[in-house]
Amino acid sequence: LAQLFRPLDMLGMVYRTIRQGVIDMEAMFALVDTPAEITDAPDARPLHVRAGEVRFEAVRFGYDADREIVHGLSLAIPPGHTLAIVGPTGAGKSTIARLLYRFYDVQGGRISIDGQDIARVTQASLRAQIGIVPQDMVLFNDTIGYNIAYGREGAGQAEIEAAARGAAIHDFIISLPQGYDTRVGERGLKLSGGEKQRVAIARTLVKDPPILILDEATSALDSRTEASIQQVLRDMARQRTTIIVAHRLSTVVDADEIIVLDQGRIAERGTHAALVARGGLYAQMWAQQAQERNVDDTPEPLDA
Ligand code: ATP
Repeated sequence: LAQLFRPLDMLGMVYRTIRQGVIDMEAMFALVDTPAEITDAPDARPLHVRAGEVRFEAVRFGYDADREIVHGLSLAIPPGHTLAIVGPTGAGKSTIARLLYRFYDVQGGRISIDGQDIARVTQASLRAQIGIVPQDMVLFNDTIGYNIAYGREGAGQAEIEAAARGAAIHDFIISLPQGYDTRVGERGLKLSGGEKQRVAIARTLVKDPPILILDEATSALDSRTEASIQQVLRDMARQRTTIIVAHRLSTVVDADEIIVLDQGRIAERGTHAALVARGGLYAQMWAQQAQERNVDDTPEPLDA
């Protein structure tokens, strides 16, 4: 019976959150799988990001008590570096990103930022320091300007436009008859996958966080749009500690470190060149995707 009521409970939660006007957009993306009650510890303090070092130490986690998904994972991302996580579907890549944003608490080990355990800092301060560019962006039924400004309370028009330029969507926006006042979302202008991603990037640029989580969309964009978005993401990741959850290996070639996750464990780690040379799982994936890239090399319709 509980199963039957869960969707209803969730709807109620969405409704209450929206009504309270306190919706955290990024929490919304993961709402469908956020049943856990995450609360601030009584002595929680604000997180102070100095350099932006992210560390996972022997982290264990499962969504259900009888099925562990992450089995004692350890990794460290030095300040400003980019770590890419690749691996077969279901390996636990997105789960790692969700744990860093503390959608869930770890069940063993710890995750820290600049030495501070994320379970012991206030959630508000943690989430203020992390930007997420999600797989699929949910837009508010409001103006495109509002959707970008949502990255940070009090963002002015100049900042919104600067962010839109950074995300290479400013020209598209001003080409619309109502410009930044164009309504988007379910009841407004429908944006393409690439355009939505650019809005997500612009919103994150407005937020200007020291730590980034990029959750690459599974659905492929046409190759020109993809290349342009990759460039924008690379610029954004520079100077920020970044985790990329990647499905296409072409997007991780430049990462400082790549971990290949297999069934919740690190199977291989290293740079792209080292992993290709190693001739293991990554090299196999690379060879297979290279083949697919060749097959797909026909011109495609333009997106954004
Ligand atoms: P993909 O490449 O397909 O996106 P992934 O490597 O990101 O996969 P995760 O989404 O982290 O994989 O999922 C890891 C495992 O956890 C999978 O077996 C998945 O079924 C399970 N899982 C994910 N979300 C939940 C959830 N909310 N409740 C229960 N199990 C979940």
